[in-house]
Amino acid sequence: MSQKLTTTDHSRDIAGLKYIYPVISRRAGGLSIGINFNTNNACNWRCVYCQVPDLIKGSAPEMDFKLLEQELRFFLRQVLEGDFYQQYQVAEQHRVIKDIAISGNGEPTSLKGFDNAIELIGKIATQMKVFPDSKFVLISNGSLMHQTGVQKGLKILNKYNGEVWFKVDSVTELGRKKINESKQTTTKTLSNLELSSHLCETSLQTCMLDFLTAEETRQERIAYLEFLKQNTVKIKKVMLYTLARASLQPEAKKLKPVNKDQMELFAENIRLLGYKVSVAS
Ligand code: SF4
Repeated sequence: MSQKLTTTDHSRDIAGLKYIYPVISRRAGGLSIGINFNTNNACNWRCVYCQVPDLIKGSAPEMDFKLLEQELRFFLRQVLEGDFYQQYQVAEQHRVIKDIAISGNGEPTSLKGFDNAIELIGKIATQMKVFPDSKFVLISNGSLMHQTGVQKGLKILNKYNGEVWFKVDSVTELGRKKINESKQTTTKTLSNLELSSHLCETSLQTCMLDFLTAEETRQERIAYLEFLKQNTVKIKKVMLYTLARASLQPEAKKLKPVNKDQMELFAENIRLLGYKVSVAS
């Protein structure tokens, strides 16, 4: 039976594969081919809005590189030459591969052999002529950019014209503790951002939430704008988004999306500092 793939369906196992999952992405405006390194649902952070089921603290498990290669080649053939779009009733206007996004159920840069995985994906997508037309994106919380293997991976990502979407939800230690359950200091965030931007094109992705107290939120926004004002690191774009789907964390009931007007207002303040900004609500 055919199944409809919509912009709200982000199931990791819709194609029945271990590492590859298709998403019709509102953000990208077409098919985004997700690659999940964290098949064990493990991350070194625990964001209150995280939509990973049964999230645990930890790193990505060992990668079966042979299986990754088989799955990626098989899936790309299905999309490029097979009946993938018909089978999943993908709307005509979305029948284009917008990107291959390394975005999984945890922090992908925690994978052992991360650089090898980036090379493998880049090589296959180039051979199958998906790159350079489609983008290569790494969605990361940026916390492991100081590691040599991660930096090697970013250099390879850059070779394939890739881009890092670097998560910065808060630039205060209190905010990161409450929103991301991370003890990372702001100095560390900044130095990791510098490393990322130096090695590969980097955009910021920031989730705006109605979660903290009104005063905390006000302080957070002031600190974020100040951070961008002082910033000397090259940032391609700031991508603001809010909750589109329910969190699977215990805090779920305490979270609300931020309304479009508030997001646009904040975006305008960021634009005034000279940055490009996108808003997805
Ligand atoms: S960094 Fe991503 S995967 Fe990890 S807890 Fe946060 S939202 Fe979930």
